Amino acid sequence: MTRTALVCGAGGFIGGHLVARLKQEGFWVRGVDIKFHEHAETVADDFVIGDLREQAFCRSVIDRRFDEVYQLAADMGGAGYIFTGEHDADIMQNSAAINLNVLEACHKRTIRKVFYSSSACIYPAYNQQDPLNPKCSEESAYPAAPDSEYGWEKLFSERLYLAYRRNYGMTTHVARYHNIFGPAGTWTGGKEKAPAAVCRKVALAKSGDAIDIWGDGEQTRSFLYIDECLEGTTRLLRSEFAGPVNIGSEEMVTINQLVDLVADIAGKRIRKHHIAGPTGVRGRNSDNRLVRERLGWAPSMALSSGLERTYGWIEAQTRRNAA
Ligand code: NAD
Repeated sequence: MTRTALVCGAGGFIGGHLVARLKQEGFWVRGVDIKFHEHAETVADDFVIGDLREQAFCRSVIDRRFDEVYQLAADMGGAGYIFTGEHDADIMQNSAAINLNVLEACHKRTIRKVFYSSSACIYPAYNQQDPLNPKCSEESAYPAAPDSEYGWEKLFSERLYLAYRRNYGMTTHVARYHNIFGPAGTWTGGKEKAPAAVCRKVALAKSGDAIDIWGDGEQTRSFLYIDECLEGTTRLLRSEFAGPVNIGSEEMVTINQLVDLVADIAGKRIRKHHIAGPTGVRGRNSDNRLVRERLGWAPSMALSSGLERTYGWIEAQTRRNAA
């Protein structure tokens, strides 16, 4: 029997890559999104365009007992979208509505295995003030104090998915992604994340130019390449472990170091012009002790390898745009 999967948010960055991976594994895949993928043709067997905030639409696409459901659809973006405060109501309303509807429709169809993508943005701001020693172990999520409404919605939805597990016997699984990056993601327009924004700025700069960096660039983060994110995602869904669990890299860098890495890959001398802008917490890094213990696996790829692949793709996009 062919295994079946549903990917909600299949027109997005992670969802698009996940559809391709599941196809490679031999699944029959339905993708759902409010839009088509902007950077790649979908390889899904069925791709349905519609709004997952609508209950009736959710029921219509969740019309069978899929073996695996991945809920990745969300109203989200990089710091320029989630930390300015201007989109808070939309982010909370849209993503919560999607999560409530998708999960309930899965329950009605007696689907068991459902994956939910939460975020490192749920971790309390008070544990992430020292850029060199952020604390992001899973149990440190409480007492809760995320620094964005995006994080609060994720925290609510984590609890929702785990409540359906407790009360309805579904095997929901929750991952907390830490800054996923790679080719075929948003790289311009205001919703792009730091690695994509830095790659674009470096690609458009001439050697010796300065590029704008939000804040002093000493804020720390880790970044996980898309292939390793998918490995962790599928391993988690197929395990006995509910989570929440970090899926991220432990290779922490400052944003200034990220710029230097990309400049090296591009072979350009890049100066940094630090300007005011939304920067989020001062430090953040994945803590992979739990994922190692429970899944016997953790990401291992060097940041520079993922950046090489991502820079190549973004540089090609900037050339195509200019032509
Ligand atoms: P993305 O924005 O590329 O993908 C999300 C998709 O959801 C988009 O294609 C969007 O059109 C779709 N969507 C939004 N509203 C919808 C609606 N009403 N109906 C149907 N589709 C709708 O984001 P991504 O980077 O692929 O992230 C996927 C998931 O992982 C999200 O839940 C995100 O919050 C989570 N996450 C991502 C990261 C990261 O670094 N990329 C980090 C932490 C958590």
